[in-house]
Amino acid sequence: MNNTGVRAVEVVVVGAGQAGLAAAFHLRRIGYRPDRDFVVLDHSPRPGGAWQFRWPTLTYDKVHGMHALPGMELTGADPRRPSAEVIGGYFDSYERAFGLRVHRPVRVLSVREGGAGPSGAGSSWAGPSWTESAGAPGRGRLLVETSEGSYAARALINATGTWDRPFWPRFPGQEVFGGRQLHSAQYRGPEDFRAARVVVVGGGTSAVQQLLEIAPGAAATTWVTRRPPVFRAGPFGEEQGRAAVALVADRVRQGLPPRSVVSVTGLPMTEAIRRGRESGVLERLPLFERLTPTGAVWDDGRTVEADAILYATGFRPALDHLAPLRLREPGGGIRMDGTRTLRDARVHLVGYGPSASTIGANRAGRAAAVGIDRLLTEDPQPADEDAELAGILAS
Ligand SMILES: Cc1cc2nc3c(=O)[nH]c(=O)nc-3n(C[C@H](O)[C@H](O)[C@H](O)COP(=O)(O)OP(=O)(O)OC[C@H]3O[C@@H](n4cnc5c(N)ncnc54)[C@H](O)[C@@H]3O)c2cc1C
Repeated sequence: MNNTGVRAVEVVVVGAGQAGLAAAFHLRRIGYRPDRDFVVLDHSPRPGGAWQFRWPTLTYDKVHGMHALPGMELTGADPRRPSAEVIGGYFDSYERAFGLRVHRPVRVLSVREGGAGPSGAGSSWAGPSWTESAGAPGRGRLLVETSEGSYAARALINATGTWDRPFWPRFPGQEVFGGRQLHSAQYRGPEDFRAARVVVVGGGTSAVQQLLEIAPGAAATTWVTRRPPVFRAGPFGEEQGRAAVALVADRVRQGLPPRSVVSVTGLPMTEAIRRGRESGVLERLPLFERLTPTGAVWDDGRTVEADAILYATGFRPALDHLAPLRLREPGGGIRMDGTRTLRDARVHLVGYGPSASTIGANRAGRAAAVGIDRLLTEDPQPADEDAELAGILAS
């Protein structure tokens, strides 16, 4: 850390979920030293990425297709334990085993060109104008402003997931509805809905799991989705996985925001879902037109009285801190070549779009580490920065 509070590192990894830890593992394997050549910053209180916040009834056996992090298996987990505990414990062991030294809780507030200084004009930034000294836009240092000070980094791996940006759809009447409205991210279990009339909005796995848990103890449930859900009867093998990823990748290539996972995978036809369909719990209605003080109204005049509306409507990528870099295309998405953003070769997004799954995050973490190493090796630090940086790193 220099006397301006800015610390120089080669790479900053933002987020210590599956994607961030996979990237950190591969950086370390290539030869970058944790907490010296690269830092991992995470604003959550404990290890586990977003898993630590998932509802206690999401037990480990209800999680399907969870891939272990690279280099260390997750073995002997009790399937009845909450996945928050199982995966939180596993990530904790993983960070220790590989000495990844995650800084937490540290929130990354913004990432901008280093030349602009820590908070714009009038700040105490006394370092060089990194961008100008490197001679071309996108080739200097990035200034990563955080709740524990700032970092001047040559590259950034962003692995911030989606949990911090739950998506709330807007309906007329939400402000007058007298009952409870919550997002699936706030769901803690069916007890909160005992004897209540509940409307569940959303067509994804979370909506279905939470609805099936709530229904037995509730007075009534209503399931509402934008489009008719697609139930997938056959197995979801490698081929289907590749096809789903290709669909999301295609959107990202076009600069469009990635779609939800379920829109490309469909819902797996499990035994619980089969029973839910037989019992009528999974009879679905289209979206209501508006809420009233006591319930919901459809455009055909149908009404449903409700005590609670549960929005299981998914999440959006948590990328607000990258806004100063202007990575977005007019279509609202970020175009990428692999994990590297097309607008800034120093910035890689992992766990975004086609890599938003545990297996995708693993692969993306590796690709980002390799890509950044190539960038930093092919484009070594300009000579006039060497002395300055040596001083910063030594202090
Ligand atoms: C309910 C649910 C069940 C799922 N089940 C499965 C499954 O069975 N199999 C599967 O493959 N995938 C599953 N997924 C998807 C899976 O969770 C993700 O693809 C993967 O785990 C996400 O990892 P990540 O590292 O991208 O994000 P996260 O786990 O969300 O980690 C992101 C980290 O970044 C941190 N962060 C965010 N913003 C900042 C900031 N500004 N500054 C500092 N830190 C920040 C957060 O604190 C968090 O720790 C599920 C998702 C959900 C919501």
